[in-house]
Amino acid sequence: MSTYKTQGIIIKRSHFGEANLLLDIYTKEYGKIQATARSARKARGKLKGHLEIFLLADLILAHGRNFDIITNSTVKENFLNFRNNLKISLGAYYALELTNKMTIQHHKDERVFELLWEELHFLDYLAEKVDIGRCGIAEVIKKYYLSLLLFQINILYLSGFSPEMNKCVLCSEKISSERNYFSFNLGGILDKKCKSKDVSAIEVSDNAIKLVRLFSMKKADKQNYKVSLDENFEKLGRIKIDDKLIQKTVVIMNKFVEYNLDRKIEGFRFLI
Ligand SMILES: [Zn+2]
Repeated sequence: MSTYKTQGIIIKRSHFGEANLLLDIYTKEYGKIQATARSARKARGKLKGHLEIFLLADLILAHGRNFDIITNSTVKENFLNFRNNLKISLGAYYALELTNKMTIQHHKDERVFELLWEELHFLDYLAEKVDIGRCGIAEVIKKYYLSLLLFQINILYLSGFSPEMNKCVLCSEKISSERNYFSFNLGGILDKKCKSKDVSAIEVSDNAIKLVRLFSMKKADKQNYKVSLDENFEKLGRIKIDDKLIQKTVVIMNKFVEYNLDRKIEGFRFLI
C-alpha cells in the first residue's frame, strides 16, 4: 500500500464502525481531507490520544479505496490551555466548523491552514494568560471576539466572499459617514440612497464598518498572506473599541457566512 506524509489539524472526529474514527483534517499539503483511523477508539489502540480534536499532527496515511487510512500520528501541538477553558474552546470549535464548512475537499490552500493555526494558537495564548492571571477577563474577552472577527473576515476572503466595505455595492459611491446599511443579499454596504433596493439590509455604524475594514486584506497584503495575517493578530491588543460593538459585528459577519453557505453554523449559538 502506498503511503504519504502530511501535517494537519484535526477539525472533526466522528465514530466509524465499532472502534474506528472518521476524521476531517485540514492539511498543509492537500487541503481538507477525510481519513479513517482503525481501532483508534480501543483502549490499547496505538493511535489513541493522537487524533483528538484540535491537534496539530504529523500524519502518515495509506491510500484506501473509500477513505485514506491513518497509519501513524505524531502530535506537534495540542493546545492544552484552551482545552481547559470552556468559553475559549467554544471559540476554537467555531473556527473549526467555519473551516470545515467553508472549504471543499482536496483543494489545497496553505493560507487556510495558516489562518486556522494562528487562530488556535492565539486562543491558546489567551487561555494561558487567564490561567496565570497575567490578563484580566475583560481584556481577554475583547481580544477573543476580535480574533473571531478576524477569523471570519479572513475565511470569507479566502473563500471568495469578502464583503464590500469601501463603496456602495449598488452605485459604487464611496461610503461616507452618513447612515449606512449592510446587505447580505448584495454582499456589502448599501448607502442611504440605495437602501430601498434591499429592504432586508440592516443599519451598521461607522465603527463597525471600520472594524471590518481593519481586518480586510488590502491589495498590497495579498502578496504575502502570512506576514499580513501576523500583523493583523498583533493589532488585536491595540484596538480600543466597545465590546458590544465587536460582538454585534461578529453576529453580522456570522450571518453573512451563513447567507453565503446557505446553512447554519451550529457552534455560533454558544458564542454570544
Ligand atoms: Zn448606493
